Amino acid sequence: MCGIVGYIGTQQAAPLLLEGLARLEHRGYDSAGVAVLGSGGLKVAKRAGRVRDLADGLPKRFGGKIGIGHTRWATHGPANDANAHPHTDEAARVAVVHNGIIDNAAALRAELADDGIVLASDTDTEVLAHLIARSGAATLEQRIAEALGRVEGTYGIAVAHADFPDRLVVARNGSPLIIGVGDREMHVASDLAALVRYTTTVAHLDDGEMATITAGGFTTYSLGRLEATGRTELMATDRRAKEVDIDPAAYDAGDHDSFMHKELLEQPARAEAVLRGRLDDRFGTGHLGGLNLDARELRGIRRVKILGCGSAYYVGQMGASLLEELARIPADAEPASEFRYRNPIVEHDTLYVAVSQSGETIDTLLAVQEVQRKGGRVIGLVNVVGSAIARQVDGGIYLHAGPEVAVASTKALTNMFLAFAMLAVQLGRVRDLSIADGRRLIAGLTRIPEQVDQVLATEAELAVVAKRLAEAENLFFVGRVRGFPVAREGAQKFKEISYRHAEAYQTSELKHGPLALISPEVPTVAIVPDDELVERNVAALHEIAARGGPLVVVTHAGVDLGDLERPGGGVVGRIDVPRNERELDPILLTIPLQVLAYHAALELGHDIDKPRNLAKSVTVE
Ligand code: GLU
Repeated sequence: MCGIVGYIGTQQAAPLLLEGLARLEHRGYDSAGVAVLGSGGLKVAKRAGRVRDLADGLPKRFGGKIGIGHTRWATHGPANDANAHPHTDEAARVAVVHNGIIDNAAALRAELADDGIVLASDTDTEVLAHLIARSGAATLEQRIAEALGRVEGTYGIAVAHADFPDRLVVARNGSPLIIGVGDREMHVASDLAALVRYTTTVAHLDDGEMATITAGGFTTYSLGRLEATGRTELMATDRRAKEVDIDPAAYDAGDHDSFMHKELLEQPARAEAVLRGRLDDRFGTGHLGGLNLDARELRGIRRVKILGCGSAYYVGQMGASLLEELARIPADAEPASEFRYRNPIVEHDTLYVAVSQSGETIDTLLAVQEVQRKGGRVIGLVNVVGSAIARQVDGGIYLHAGPEVAVASTKALTNMFLAFAMLAVQLGRVRDLSIADGRRLIAGLTRIPEQVDQVLATEAELAVVAKRLAEAENLFFVGRVRGFPVAREGAQKFKEISYRHAEAYQTSELKHGPLALISPEVPTVAIVPDDELVERNVAALHEIAARGGPLVVVTHAGVDLGDLERPGGGVVGRIDVPRNERELDPILLTIPLQVLAYHAALELGHDIDKPRNLAKSVTVE
């Protein structure tokens, strides 16, 4: 789930591996390690803690021009030195790094222990090192294939072997692996972030694929399992490296203190990118080429089901309300992680929409596969081009947010909303959304990038409000109807990076329970757009203020908060966002909440890009 790097070529591997690992740090991890293969055989250094600590503690003699490295996000066994990767066999001839989870690790560990093997760690990964070492097959590739044939689960792996000192072997099943082609040298990584400084000529492995990498090139195979014998055969595949159109600077935070800050401020430009070429103001519709659905098929959709995890689920809720309002199609969002475990009823006239920044979120990917297995049609809202979900779905909308490095999503989320808005207009226009309404919304969408910029320009004022919020241990975020997913996403962002307990609630539901918790110590961030519910919302603010609860109100200029804004009236912060069409309000209301979360975390001194216990793309279940 975390990071893999590898190198083979003419330079010393260790410094390159460490630098690559540092570039994967933002993904979150708890331990790190490297192995190099040199004239003295395999050398391994690994420990719990930061890549910096690993680099500082590296032995003087750590030479070798082949190597692999890893940042671990523990799933099996605590984050200690022994459990850090790489893992080796007893004779330390094979070194393995692994992202993912081996589901049948317990059985395999027991089997190895019965055979007298002393396991050196608590991990699932270690079994792979022993299985490879014990294989009697002639080639390293066959040995690895045999070992992989015994494991169930997900993996991205990189393997170095002292008996095969001219190669690295990598394989993938559910966890990304990319090969980068250099000049008489090759790199490997689980994320482009670790490669782009060296090369933009890359090959993405597919699930079920393996590659042999030498300093001069690579060869790929598919791991086809022969069901009858359980044996794993290798068949050559014809994967070629391609140029990726990525500016290496996208992976540098530049003058910003964090990637999150950089990405927050990139939003106007990235919002323009997702809208570009996709708005048709003449017919007042969206122009989404990648859906692979003609007008008849679009008209045949009776229901939309949106699947995502975390923020992608909350923006999915925003998307569902756009679809219901504009296209009048029943729509709802559900966490992909729950959906796939409840034997869902898949209907042929339902359009399923999978939402994932990375396109590698395993819960979402498996939900997509479950839908497709039952004959359903799925489109993707994905940021990373060529990612697993992007390849799996039947069509979709790329988000064009550019690389998003910070764990807390900002620009990708904004573009997910805009993609939903375009989809809703397009679906609406082949049903009963009028051309006038279509044009009204297209014009509204065109204004969004500029308006996002206006919100971001108030950062200094938002920072003052954030300071006030950072003092509280517990907070509520409330909104209703369109505003409720906004509150949920606001609370999510706040808890992710400030580690404060932020709970989202429907404003209308407060008096049915949580009002009991309101006190001067518990501020509420209230989403109060100037829409058909504004009066009801303001009434609820009075109920909060009457219990001494401090209020931060995210609203529109002109909304009259009356006494609440007098000194001592309850409102400790008011944030007015620009007006757009009501249906599009949610995204403009979301932007200040991102900035509040960022500044609260900054105030509290947290590591903004690497919140504790979290990882950027969750590729394990
Ligand atoms: N399951 C492995 C472990 O716990 C790998 C975790 C990861 O993806 O970093 O060591």
